[in-house]
Amino acid sequence: MNPTAPAPGWTQTTCPYCGVGCGVLARPAPDGLTAEIKGDPDHPANFGRLCSKGAALGETLGAEGRLLAPTIYGQRTRWDDALDLVAHRFSEAIEAHGPDSVAFYVSGQLLTEDYYVANKLMKGFIGSANIDTNSRLCMASSVAGHKRAFGSDTVPGCYEDLELADLVVLIGSNLAWCHPVLYQRLAAAKAERGTRIVVIDPRETATCDLADLHLALKPGSDVALSNGLLQYLAANKAIDRSYIESHTSGFEAAITAAMDMPFADVIAATGLEAGQLSRFYKLFAETPPTVSVFSQGVNQSSAGTDKVNAIINCHLATGRVGKPGASPFSVTGQPNAMGGREVGGLANMLAAHMELGNTGHRQAVQQFWKSPRIASEPGLKAVDLFQAAADGRVKALWIMATNPADSMPEADHIRSALAACPFVVVSDMTGDTDTADLAHVVLPAAAWGEKDGTVTNSERRISRQRRFLQPLGLARPDWWQICAVAKRMGFADAFDFATPAEIFAEYAALTGLANRGERDLDLAGLSALSSEDYQTLAPIQWPAPAGRPVSSSRFFTDGRFYTDDGRARFIAVAYRPPAQSPSAEFPLRLNTGRIRDQWHTMTRTAKTPRLMAHIAEPFVEMRPDDATRHGLGPGDLAQVSTPMGEVVVRTVVSERQGAGSLFVPMQWTDQYANRARINTLIAAWTDPLSGQPELKHSPAQVRPYPAGWHAFAVMQEQPAPGAFDYAAIATCPGGWRLECAGRGDPASWPQTASALLTPRGTAAVEFLSYADNALAQHRFAAFSDGKCIGLLFVSRTPVTVSRTWAVEQLGGILASDQRLRLLAGRPGGDVPDRGKIVCACLNVGANEIAAAARLHPGATVYTVGIATGAGTNCGSCRAEIGTLIHAKSLAEAG
Ligand code: SF4
Repeated sequence: MNPTAPAPGWTQTTCPYCGVGCGVLARPAPDGLTAEIKGDPDHPANFGRLCSKGAALGETLGAEGRLLAPTIYGQRTRWDDALDLVAHRFSEAIEAHGPDSVAFYVSGQLLTEDYYVANKLMKGFIGSANIDTNSRLCMASSVAGHKRAFGSDTVPGCYEDLELADLVVLIGSNLAWCHPVLYQRLAAAKAERGTRIVVIDPRETATCDLADLHLALKPGSDVALSNGLLQYLAANKAIDRSYIESHTSGFEAAITAAMDMPFADVIAATGLEAGQLSRFYKLFAETPPTVSVFSQGVNQSSAGTDKVNAIINCHLATGRVGKPGASPFSVTGQPNAMGGREVGGLANMLAAHMELGNTGHRQAVQQFWKSPRIASEPGLKAVDLFQAAADGRVKALWIMATNPADSMPEADHIRSALAACPFVVVSDMTGDTDTADLAHVVLPAAAWGEKDGTVTNSERRISRQRRFLQPLGLARPDWWQICAVAKRMGFADAFDFATPAEIFAEYAALTGLANRGERDLDLAGLSALSSEDYQTLAPIQWPAPAGRPVSSSRFFTDGRFYTDDGRARFIAVAYRPPAQSPSAEFPLRLNTGRIRDQWHTMTRTAKTPRLMAHIAEPFVEMRPDDATRHGLGPGDLAQVSTPMGEVVVRTVVSERQGAGSLFVPMQWTDQYANRARINTLIAAWTDPLSGQPELKHSPAQVRPYPAGWHAFAVMQEQPAPGAFDYAAIATCPGGWRLECAGRGDPASWPQTASALLTPRGTAAVEFLSYADNALAQHRFAAFSDGKCIGLLFVSRTPVTVSRTWAVEQLGGILASDQRLRLLAGRPGGDVPDRGKIVCACLNVGANEIAAAARLHPGATVYTVGIATGAGTNCGSCRAEIGTLIHAKSLAEAG
């Protein structure tokens, strides 16, 4: 079925990171462990493009950190023993305490086939709906908003709409860093046809470099902004009366609710100027081809569902739903968040977009599965699920392919919940996670490249992930593990799948069950695929019904929706501020999010030095005046605290941050820093409809961390971050880099240097050192066999040594004058300092980019790319290059 077979040796597969779902070509390296990677030019999501994370996929493979065998209480064991124990403990809990005493917590990293059998086992055979997913943290509010408005969890549009729109509104969506290939497609469309772009975000993110207008609204005020827009559209005769009357219901209630907030109150709630609001409203009103893209900045909120419906209301009012270049468009964070939604991976769904609360749906699914029972009530959503584990209601919990000990709010409470739960199973590809540390049984899962199945991206496009490597050690696919446990629990017939192709066929058939167009999700046309067809399946958007042609890749083009009366519903929503307000003790607002080159809790992306070069240390970003007010300067260590706890991170001072706001990335765990798990600071306030936690807002305060000394080191062996009061580690070419600090000096710096820099088993190490006790400066350079094997710089204040330069010295053979220069902590005049790495693909630093821009007045990202190579590979850094070209940033970089 695939029209364009790849060249011999290459496998067509799909990137395992974000919801863009880019096609990847992979060719195994001769070592059988790693692979060559490039973008698939035939995949309709990316047409050959990849971002920095996708381009570095080949470097994240390999055996390092992989789980190679099952373990029980930390002891290696056989698969049979591990599976017997899991089945026994789950069955025992169900027998003694009922089906709701067990739970699965799964992940948007699972393939659809994995998800399908996990959901089938829990809802159809165990008889509970206690299966929830980390997608609850990502887009549950969009699901709830879609269902309220459309009667179904349907994404109406497709990626092509971004290229057909005249106006793209990005709401709570840092596309440049979080969906980089969509950002590239949008940037290309803007260059070609002048697409206007509005970014709505409290932060001036990298995406703003593409924006014609940036609305830095107050955190959480989106409903006020959208309700103001709805009022404006009505007042300025910009609504589509005919569409509203023919295809919707509830408009009067929605506009009445919107008008409860006069324009002056919209200004006060959003913190925006009247002129900014009017400009946006006018632009929206006058531009029928408008796409509104939204993601975590909207969803991760205690009012996330209302925010989604407030956006959809404006699109319904203008009839801009499911039309080319005109739609609301939720983009998902994870590679298979959509697949999870399809098969019922959320605790409040059944399967195949059928409803737990619908008796007919339950009976149909139970008959189809031939299952002894079927869950009839929604199960526990993520926050409630871990609370149930903490207070003893959940006796056995299986966590698959996710790391809730870091990614959930109140992350320390999650650790306590896992410690309190009598039986915790973790299946994952790596044992180096804060969650696996707390499991009784750990099951080794096949990694990306080792497993077969399908994923669905944000535009409903199903793509194959294909195996091109042999599973390492005893690793097995998740679907195999789930089926093996199900068989041991007495459900052999229903889980007798030999291949993922068989699971996919059953799933596709289920979507067509009693579905004569009543449900959006229909894959019945794919239910008869042979295993060869499945193997060669080309990317395909759903729906794909049997015997019915599909005329469009968009939904709702005919104005008919999946509600009882076929009409879309306006939802009357009112602005509610975030659950917690700043106070005298916690006067700032903490926002959390992602950085460009890391994926989630860094379990894979942190393996490659290339992706750690851009940002190697956890940080808090704040405005200069906020930093000064709180006694902090660039590079200082800061304690960020909320009523829940405290982290220690590096200070980044930036005009891009909103006044009174802090931003901290959510990605650092105890594996890479000892005091930076930001989700320990976030209280578990959730949206009442979607159950999605408010990860984007918490009252906070910040103050200097009272370090007595600071140090930076590069070395060959991995240091332990727990050995210092503050520490963050990162891989670098040939070894590791370490940032650390402490309150009291160690007894002896030479001894500390020796312990840190001497690799195990290396006897003949030569040290050069320098000390200035008055300034409390200590510097050490270690050599073995003529090579530099480590550097340590200690100072009373944050160490100012160029990290890029220092890292490049590791492993170098240096003449004696060059060795002494190491102790000076800077390159000689003949060796320019490249500065912080901006282009991770081609290793180009900020100083090189700044120098190229200075040389060419009127420089552009394109001309700097020609001069330095920066931004010419994956393009993920182009927004940052644009910032550096800006005169103010040039001064900073110099
Ligand atoms: Fe992967 Fe990047 Fe494409 Fe997302 S945008 S799917 S991370 S290559």
